[in-house]
This record gives sequence, C-alpha cells and structure tokens, in this order.
Amino acid sequence: MSDPVENVVIIGTGCAGLTAAIYTARSSLNPLVLEGSLPGGQLTTTSEVENFPGFPHGVDGFQLTQNMREQATRFGTRFEQALVSSVDFTSMPRKLHLGDRTILARTVIIATGASPRMTGIPGEKELYGGKGVTTCATCDGAFYRKMEVAVLGGGDSAAEEALFLTRFASKVYLVHRRDSLRASKIMADRAIAHEKIQMVWDSVPVEVLGVKEGAVSGLKVRQVKTNAESILPVKGIFVAIGHIPNTGPFAPPLEIDEGGYFVPQPGSQVQTNIPGIYVAGDCSDHVYRQAITAAGMGCAAAIEAERWLAEHHG
Ligand code: NAP
Repeated sequence: MSDPVENVVIIGTGCAGLTAAIYTARSSLNPLVLEGSLPGGQLTTTSEVENFPGFPHGVDGFQLTQNMREQATRFGTRFEQALVSSVDFTSMPRKLHLGDRTILARTVIIATGASPRMTGIPGEKELYGGKGVTTCATCDGAFYRKMEVAVLGGGDSAAEEALFLTRFASKVYLVHRRDSLRASKIMADRAIAHEKIQMVWDSVPVEVLGVKEGAVSGLKVRQVKTNAESILPVKGIFVAIGHIPNTGPFAPPLEIDEGGYFVPQPGSQVQTNIPGIYVAGDCSDHVYRQAITAAGMGCAAAIEAERWLAEHHG
C-alpha cells in the first residue's frame, strides 16, 4: 500500500502556522501540523500581549497560542511532534523526511519562525521572559514605565527598540560593542540625538544581575578599550543583536537571503521559488516580526495553498 498523500503539511506552531492551520482546516483540507521544539513559537515566551487586536485588556502569550491551537483542532487539524530532517521538493508529491519516516505532501507551508540571537552571558537565560530580559520592546516595553532599561546591539533593531522604549522608560542605555552604529543613518542619528538615550559605546555586556532575586537589578558591562567594568542600574534588558531564522533543512532548495531568511517570489509575500511550497511568519519576515503580521502571512499562505490545490487537484 502506498503512503497517503497529505493535502497540506504545515511546519511550525507559532502564530503563522496555527493561522494557516485554522484556514486550511476550515477549507476541509485536513491539514497535518508538525510541531518542533518550541510549540507555540516565540509568543509563548511573552507574558502579556497587549497589541494583538481583539483583546482590549491584553492576553497571555501562551494562552493566545493555546486558543489558536484549540480553534485549529476544532476544525480537524492534526498535530504531530516531529522534526523535519531533510526534504525532497524535486518531484510530486513533495517529500518531507523525518529521520527514518517520510511524509508525502501536495503543498507545504513552512512557518518555522526565527530565534532571537542571545548574548549567552550569565544571568541572561535565567532572567529571560517576564523577569526582565526580553527580545521584544513592542511586546514588553510598556512594563518599564519610568524605569531605566538597556538595549543591546547596534543595528536597526537596537535603534528602533531604543527609540520605542523612550515612550515608557525614564532612560535607555544603548550598549554597543563598537563606536558607531550599524543601523541606517536616519535611525542611528535619531537614536543618538534622543535626550532619553545614552550611548554606551565600545562596550560588551558581561553579566545580568539579579538572578538570586528573580528579577533584573542591573547589567554589568565592560568597556573593550579600557577593560573597565561598570554596572548600569537597569530593570529591563532588551536583547536586539539579530535573529536566526529557522530555515534549517529547507534551504536549499528554497532561496534565502544573506540574513538567512526565506525569500518569497516577487509580488508575493508567501510563495517560494518552488510551486506549492509557501513560507509564512518570522522565517521570512525580518521587517515586522509581529504576531499579527505572522498570522496574516499564515492566512495568505493557506489561501494560496488552497487555490493551488483547487487548480491542480480539483
Ligand atoms: P543586525 O543588523 O545584524 O545587527 C545586529 C547588531 O548586534 C550589530 O550591531 C552587531 O554588532 C550586534 N551584535 C551581534 N552579535 C552580538 C553579540 N554577541 N554581542 C553584542 N553585540 C552583538 O540585526 P538587526 O538590527 O536585527 O537587523 C536585521 C535586519 O533587519 C537588517 O537588515 C536591518 O536593516 C533590518 N531591520 C530593519 C528595520 C527597519 O527598517 N525599520 C528594523 C529592524 C531591522 P556589530 O555591528 O559589531 O556587528
């Protein structure tokens, strides 16, 4: 007996993957969702989400993804915990290899997300997520009203996060390991000129303080030219040193850019260079990176997959 061929296999259970599941399940495509090592994606590491439309009083990030999952399940989505080790997109149906097993699929939606790059300094991991170390100013900035915070990094993300945080924080230290920002000139100029932002040049973070107390109480930094160490009296630390998109076994054959993100075809947000294979969410979006934009891309990918199936398989 030959293996069954899935209509749609969705890889990833963040906002993008779960939204794609809701849409394809409601279209009676009986989607199979493969979930990896961080079910629910980055949102599950955020305590309260205040900017997802429809929740005027905010919603717990974990609860929001649980709700999406429940919604997808209600319409018949099947979930399986599995890691794709390699793919063969050269023929139809497409092949997804999971160790010693192979799944056959007519369409695939890849929504594997991106992992924030972390510094790896002591205290960072222990105080990550609700305890003062975070990777998202848009998500968590409002919790630091009238407090001092630090942003780590020197790219557009760091400059943008620092500027955003000036709305809430009393002071923002922008800690960068060099003496000039990598960010675009306009962003860099704005950040440097802002009265609430203090540049901490030529400095690397050494340790996040407050592990014993269970909340960030400061950041130890080292000036790389003098080796002098000092402590910034911050309650929040925003790590903005880039992301690592999870494109693992899919690229190649899927195209990625120099930052490692999937590259959609011109004129499409979600279509890849291989027909019937779609990408959605942070694995292909280095600009917006929001739960709601990921959900939007998941919806778009689902509609495209549905159209492709209707065209090719009636
Ligand atoms: P990025 O441009 O790669 O910048 C990462 C920054 O983190 C760099 O300044 C880098 O320092 C620093 N860094 C890396 N590893 C570090 C470590 N271990 N310790 C300390 N510092 C470290 O990343 P990004 O800012 O996330 O931007 C990614 C892409 O998205 C870029 O193309 C950016 O233009 C784009 N983006 C655009 C916008 C916008 O247009 N509004 C907003 C956000 C992002 P060095 O400079 O020394 O390498």
